[in-house]
Parts: sequence; structure tokens; C-alpha cells
Amino acid sequence: MTTLAPMMLSEGATDFVDDAAFEALLRDREPDAAEIRDLIAKSLGKEALSVEETARLLTTSDPELVDEIIEGARRLKREVYGNRIVLFAPLYIGNKCVNDCRYCGFRRSSPDAIRRTLSPEEIRRQVEALEDKGHKRLILVFGEHPQYNADFIADCVRRVYETRKGRGEIRRVNINAAPMDHEGYRIIKAAGIGTYQIFQETYHHETYDRYHPAGTRKGDYLHRLDGLSRAMEAGCDDVGIGALFGLHDWRFEVLGLIAHALHLQDRYGVGPHTISFPRLRPAVGLSCDGQPLVSDADFKRVIATLRLAVPYTGLILTAREKPEMRREAMAFGVSQIDAGSRIEIGGYTEAGDAQCLEREQFSLGDVRSLDEVMRELVGNDHIPSFCTACYRLGRTGEHFMEFAIPGFIKRFCTPNALTTLMEYLVDYASPETREVGERLVQTELDKIEQSRQKQELVDRLRRIRETEERDLYF
Ligand code: SAM
Ligand code: SF4
Repeated sequence: MTTLAPMMLSEGATDFVDDAAFEALLRDREPDAAEIRDLIAKSLGKEALSVEETARLLTTSDPELVDEIIEGARRLKREVYGNRIVLFAPLYIGNKCVNDCRYCGFRRSSPDAIRRTLSPEEIRRQVEALEDKGHKRLILVFGEHPQYNADFIADCVRRVYETRKGRGEIRRVNINAAPMDHEGYRIIKAAGIGTYQIFQETYHHETYDRYHPAGTRKGDYLHRLDGLSRAMEAGCDDVGIGALFGLHDWRFEVLGLIAHALHLQDRYGVGPHTISFPRLRPAVGLSCDGQPLVSDADFKRVIATLRLAVPYTGLILTAREKPEMRREAMAFGVSQIDAGSRIEIGGYTEAGDAQCLEREQFSLGDVRSLDEVMRELVGNDHIPSFCTACYRLGRTGEHFMEFAIPGFIKRFCTPNALTTLMEYLVDYASPETREVGERLVQTELDKIEQSRQKQELVDRLRRIRETEERDLYF
């Protein structure tokens, strides 16, 4: 076993996950209908729920009450956020890894994994390919390896922003990488990152230890749990949490996520920007038999419960899920999805449509192109958005503002969604997608009352259609 150097924690770092307390909450008596309805009403009244209250939503087994929870989430999504869906794509930079997470195709003991790290030139080519499809927001994904230190990650971020092809540009780069120390976060922040994501995988201690062998970097539960607290202390206040569903009881993981969100909110005055809840997928050397996999019905409860419990946090659902699940989940909770994703290293220029498990971390459930997903979204009255305005204007915590500031969505989010959609339709869409998209833009414009701002929006849409002007955000 290698000896690892001691790792710095945040000031007063605490392990806020009490397994026995969570389990007791989940064993509690079933709530009655009045209790569930009060909790749904509280959430619709724009208040976050506590861990104890969230547990009440999770303990009911009454199918009618479960339906009410999902309906409550649907209402919250519709009334508060409207029909926008933010789109992004993952870019896998390198799959070398010193860890041995039992579920991951990149783990160091995986004999079949083909190890590769994109060179600067290869990154440029991948980014150009993504820009050619119309992407504006990326998340860069890294294994954990000494080579992928903060300077390396910061260089990758800068290279992505520098790469421009035609009218294409990447306007926001998020990161999913190993936890850093304070200095590391400062270096990466200076490169202009958006959200820094770290998933705890499982909040249940014993399960965590089972999947992340001791003596590996990731084997230290508290160091990982504390990872985003250090980010906050270092000035990265835009962070994303997540759990990998299928390792332990899904109800427990939901409580862990809520406890984590509330912990960040209490300690730093700002909660996570996003929550991710990937379900375990087949990976090289991983058979999903015997895993406590989460059924579709339970997974919908995960999403609806999260939506109600933290109403002002973005929810991300990735292409690990099949198109049907993604379609449904957008209606009652999810606010961001990836599209046209390839997760094999170099996959945007090299791999074609086939999936190859030896080259990727796990297999995908939705391999449709960005254009197909865009066509479906606009056809179903969603406004796909590539908006990055808040981040670039320093309006951080935008999801919170959308939720808390009256009129914010009308003034900023919807107009920015429509202008970025128009850029996509004019510059990248297939003729069919453009046709359906233009119809949606008109329908959305018809919903907006006459005002100076509406005139300005109509004018900007015209300029995008008729001129080279781009990036006209409010
Ligand atoms: N290596 C870094 C880490 O572990 O934090 C960041 C990148 S890791 C490649 C991104 C995430 O992929 C992990 O946090 C984990 O939740 C998820 N993942 C790993 N194996 C998976 C699988 N078989 N199915 C679904 N998601 C998986
Ligand atoms: Fe490495 Fe991350 Fe995979 Fe674990 S999940 S083996 S840390 S890439």
C-alpha cells in the first residue's frame, strides 16, 4: 500500500453525514396525506426543506401521495422556472487514474482500459468539432492523476476558451475532476471556470469504503466530502454536488445530497449551483448484477424529491439515461442536460457513432446528436438555452436569482434563451430543426407583452438572423 501525503481540509471541516440518524429518519412512521401536502405547499412557497422534512417525502409508500409529490415538482418546475432547458456537452480530457473505484471503467486496476490524455492540439480539434455542432457550454472531465494537477487543468480551460472556429466559441467551461487543495482551486478559478463539480458517489460511509479502497486518494471520505468547502474558501463559489445512484439505498443518498446542500448554504451563504444524480451504468469489468439499482419509478421520486427540497438549485440529468427518461424528467425537475455527448477520449472526431467500452468510462443511454435533441426539445415546447450571461456578467447564483427575484426569468432568462436558440438555428441547425425552432420562437414571442424590452429582443433576433452579430445577451 502506498503512503499518501496528509491532505488539507477546510477550516473546521466536519462530517455532517450521520448514517444512524439518516437511517432512523427513513425508518420513521409513514407520513399522512396532510403532512405531505404541507411539505409540497412549503416548497411551492419557495422555501427549501430540511433533511428531516425531505425524509418525510421519502418515507411514504402510498402511490397516490407519490403521485402528488411528482405533481408538486411538476408545478414548481412549470410555475417557477418555465420551459427552458440548458444544454452542454462533456469533454473527456484524460482517463489516467490513481484511484480504484470499483464501478468505473477508468479505475487503475482495469486491465482493458486504453489510457490516453488529449494533447493541446487534440483538445483544439475536439473543441472545434463541438463548436461546429453548436455547443457553447462544456464540462471537462478528468481522471485523478498527478499529471492532471491544477496547472494542467487551468491550461486545458484556457485552451478551450481560446479555440474559436467560424462563429463558434465556448462561453462557459465547467470542471468535473478530483478534489483540490485551496491553491489548486485558486489556480483553476483564475482560468475562468464556471462550476466545479465533485460527486460524493455515496454518502453512506461503509458503502463508500467498500467502493473506494483504502490507500487510494479517493479512499478518504472526509477529504472528498470537504472538497467543495475548500473550493468555497478559495473563492470558487460556483460548485456542483452529486451522488452515483445504485451504490446504496437511493433514499439515503437523497438525504446526503440535501444535507450537503444545506451545509454549504449554512457555512458559506451559498448553496450548490447544481446537483447531479447519475445512475450506475455498465462499465468495463463492472457487472451491474447484484447492485442495488434504482428502478425508473424510484428514480423519478429521486428527481421530484430533490426538486421540491432545494427549489433553487439546478438539476442535471446526463445522457447516461435513455431519451424517454430524460424527456419525462425535464417536466418535473431537470433543468440542464447534455446532448450529442461522446465520452470516449477523442470521441468527437474519431469514434463515429459506435460506443466502445474500453475507451470510455461507462456506456451511454442517449447517443442522439445535438440537432436531434434540439428538434425534440423545440417540438415539445421547451426552449433549449445556451445562455451564459449571468456567469459572464458576474451574476453568480443565477439559479437562486431566477427563483428569488420577481421578474428575473422574464427579464433575462427567457430573452437570453431565445437569442442563443436563434444563434443555433441560424448557424448550426438542420432545415427541419430550424423550421420547428422558428415556430417555437414566434410562439414564445407571442406570449410576451408589448414593451421596450420585447422590441429590443425582436430586434436582436433579427440581427442574429440577418447579420454576423452574435452573443447579444441581456
Ligand atoms: N475522476 C474524478 C472523480 O472521480 O471525481 C472526476 C471524473 S469521474 C470520471 C466523473 C463521475 O463519473 C464520477 O464522479 C462518477 O459519479 C461517475 N461514474 C463513474 N463510473 C460510473 C458508471 N459506471 N456509471 C455511471 N457513472 C459513473
Ligand atoms: Fe478515477 Fe474518477 Fe473513475 Fe474513480 S470515478 S476510477 S477517481 S476516474
